Amino acid sequence: MTASLYAKMYAHFPPSESAVLLQAPGGRTITYGMAHEWSGRYAHFMSSLGLEKGDRVAVQTEKSAEALLVYLACLRGGFVFLPMNTAYRPDEVDYLVSNAEPALILCSPEAEDSTRAIATRHGVEHVYTLGTRNDGSFPNAAADASPQFPIVACDPDDLAAMLYTSGTTGKPKGAMLTHRNLASNAEALVKSWRFSGTDVLLHALPIFHAHGLFVACHCVLMSGARMIWLSKFDADEVIRLMPQATVFMGVPTFYTRLLSKPDFGREATATMRLFTSGSAPLLAETHTQFSSRTGHAILERYGMTETGMNTGNPYDAERRPGTVGFPFPGVSVRVVGEDDVTALPTGSVGAIQVKGDNVMLGYWRMPEKTKEEFTADGWFKTGDVGKIDPEGYLHIVGRAKDLIISGGYNVYPKEIEGVIDDMPGIDESAVVGVLHPDFGEVGVAVVKLLPKANGLGEEAILGHLKQHLANYKVPKRVFFTDELPRNTMGKVQKNLLRDQYKDLFR
Ligand code: ATP
Ligand code: MG
Repeated sequence: MTASLYAKMYAHFPPSESAVLLQAPGGRTITYGMAHEWSGRYAHFMSSLGLEKGDRVAVQTEKSAEALLVYLACLRGGFVFLPMNTAYRPDEVDYLVSNAEPALILCSPEAEDSTRAIATRHGVEHVYTLGTRNDGSFPNAAADASPQFPIVACDPDDLAAMLYTSGTTGKPKGAMLTHRNLASNAEALVKSWRFSGTDVLLHALPIFHAHGLFVACHCVLMSGARMIWLSKFDADEVIRLMPQATVFMGVPTFYTRLLSKPDFGREATATMRLFTSGSAPLLAETHTQFSSRTGHAILERYGMTETGMNTGNPYDAERRPGTVGFPFPGVSVRVVGEDDVTALPTGSVGAIQVKGDNVMLGYWRMPEKTKEEFTADGWFKTGDVGKIDPEGYLHIVGRAKDLIISGGYNVYPKEIEGVIDDMPGIDESAVVGVLHPDFGEVGVAVVKLLPKANGLGEEAILGHLKQHLANYKVPKRVFFTDELPRNTMGKVQKNLLRDQYKDLFR
């Protein structure tokens, strides 16, 4: 039997071809029948260009139904889908293209000139455009291709997609994801989150990232469900459409923005059965506020580009704020000490490692890096630090790279940020480590105040921290900012802050 993810999805397509897969903005509807027809046509056309199994198809376009159909066509044809962040500038696209060597690049009509220049530089023969309304040279050229196209047979380890990590801690790395990786994780999520053909997912995430593309779309495609598609997150639009939906998936900022709308509450969420959050930590406070406003407990889960989803809070039991729950079926998680192999006792903080069919083959063209990130016994080092509590819930304490070692003591920025954020007048904060001649490293806090902060200053914040934390944990300085630097997934880019303050004590 083929391991093709498309074949697995196709087996779950509803019997009626007119069943709706996706309602696009502006009232356009894509049925399951159309999805099969157009993915066949696109695969046919790509194959007529000379693309072969394993060839990469790089896509940098705005979110559109057609972009999803291109993804399906790649799965069906055995091509490797490579979505690029829409925010990437030509230099970043140039790096990804030189690294991934795609056979075909699809770009937005507006980016055609710069993309062609990049393609020429790296010997990529085929460049087409794809707009958001079924326009552009790609759908035009493919329109006459036959929709008849076989589902190309795949082995479990054949590549299905290559996704670059978010670049929160450094240059993005290409994660090689196989049909086995994606299918096993999709099956685990459908089961854990009880997806069925009656579900309607309100989709407001970008689709160049694992969250919006795999987690969201796979749950729908592997259960014959339906999606309402927004081109981007807009709190008012989400509130308007939510009464037609049953499931919503978001990054934490989606939830804080929804909560900032006074008309968001029980009425808007009456038809909903599930809210999930991930990609960045959801503050326990947001979780609690959301529950009291809507009566729904957000299900927080933990995943990454390299592994898909690792753990999640339970569907039927307590969803514990500030935790990311239990391993999904088929995924093993352990927390280990400094030797990278010895599992730590319950409650101890250590490095989080995962193993399972969900874990990528490796980083594209980075054999050394790949070797470094796997242990000798086959576990993947997530780079995240956490602990497992007595009831088995996983808590993420932070990223190993963000850990501060001050005077020989481990300082976890998240703990300090939590104390700062609880002060009245504080919107949010980030604590980073910088080099220090005496202590090796010390913490520096960067704080965003609320408009009504009443002149809250460095002294007051440091004084408050000294009351609540051991001295070695208290940052040496506090700086103020109008906005913390974030990447497009809403993650705070601590590397930029570290860079900004690196010479403070030197
Ligand atoms: P890069 O690897 O390029 O530095 P990145 O790690 O941010 O970027 P992603 O693969 O998009 O790239 O993100 C995975 C990371 O996001 C995880 O390793 C973890 O640090 C964080 N993350 C995801 N979900 C959660 C969550 N629920 N709570 C806390 N952190 C989370
Ligand atoms: Mg990462």
